[in-house]
Amino acid sequence: MNCYYCRGKIKKKKIDHIHKWGDKIYLFSGVPAEICTQCGETYLGPAELRKMDQYVTSSTRPQKRLSIPIFAL
Ligand SMILES: [Zn+2]
Repeated sequence: MNCYYCRGKIKKKKIDHIHKWGDKIYLFSGVPAEICTQCGETYLGPAELRKMDQYVTSSTRPQKRLSIPIFAL
């Protein structure tokens, strides 16, 4: 498989993924993804996306919580 945008090579890698849901932000670690080695585009599989939606819509307890500093420019 090649990158949809630049036709570059795609490599499998586990990543940290930031998932936005409404006005909330969730961080998923160790997400299996495919990354373009040329432009850096990230491709997530439908199974992983479904799992993340499941976690954020159910009341699954997260491993830990962080507070995120927010600045307005
Ligand atoms: Zn690419």
